[in-house]
Amino acid sequence: MSHVHSELPVSPGTAPMPGHRVEITERGSFCFANCSCGWFRPARRSRDLARREAAEHLEESGAELEG
Ligand SMILES: [Zn+2]
Repeated sequence: MSHVHSELPVSPGTAPMPGHRVEITERGSFCFANCSCGWFRPARRSRDLARREAAEHLEESGAELEG
């Protein structure tokens, strides 16, 4: 068994699309939304609200929410 690394070589100049990967982290009854671009929202009591704020961020950034 060997590990397969599927990393694409990144060459400067050919940006493959700036990534906006939003993650919703749940901790207890709180939800945290944060994006790979550095954007984040403080803890929310409602997952729906956290997801909505994440969706709004992606909308403003011109990206689409996954899942
Ligand atoms: Zn972002």
